[in-house]
Amino acid sequence: MLVTGNIKVITGEMFSGKSKELSRLIERALIADLTVDVFYPVFSSRDSSRDIERRIAELHGSLTIVGVPDGNAQALITLINPVADVVAIDEAQFFTHDLVDVVKKLRHDGKRVLIAGLDLDYQENPFGCMGALMCVADDVMKVHAVCTACKKSDAFISYRLTDESGQVVVGESNYTALCVECYDHVMMEKQERTTDYQTA
Ligand SMILES: [Zn+2]
Repeated sequence: MLVTGNIKVITGEMFSGKSKELSRLIERALIADLTVDVFYPVFSSRDSSRDIERRIAELHGSLTIVGVPDGNAQALITLINPVADVVAIDEAQFFTHDLVDVVKKLRHDGKRVLIAGLDLDYQENPFGCMGALMCVADDVMKVHAVCTACKKSDAFISYRLTDESGQVVVGESNYTALCVECYDHVMMEKQERTTDYQTA
């Protein structure tokens, strides 16, 4: 049988259903009797409970799920089961940039690579290596949450509710999904509060 490797990226803001779609594709692969390796980044400062772990906990088949320390893509290579048909990577935005080269190699090796990750960081910039991953992918799926403020438009960003700095701040309670208009409104109010404080 001719095996063709390929790369699929599922991306969008938080609460957009990326992990749900990833778990659906993992379940589909398992039904087809494929061997699936699932990876996600692990940082000591972060909550160890993973959405993807909960979602695939009930699935049966040849499935392995492994946390990769510090999202080190080189470490990920050493953890891949050589006979895996499918390599799924969740929270790809937190992996090191050489993940791009790793998934390109996996495609040449005939692996089906499934990647889920945030497209934008909280400052509206491409998140980590996600932009490059979308370029090298054969297929890109953008998914959207409903804006939690107006509940009408598609959200486009995960708005951070805390003032902590750094990218590695997770937990649903720290973010909300906003559309462009509601995001602009929130940012304007924030700016006005800052100005009021400075002129008081
Ligand atoms: Zn909105």
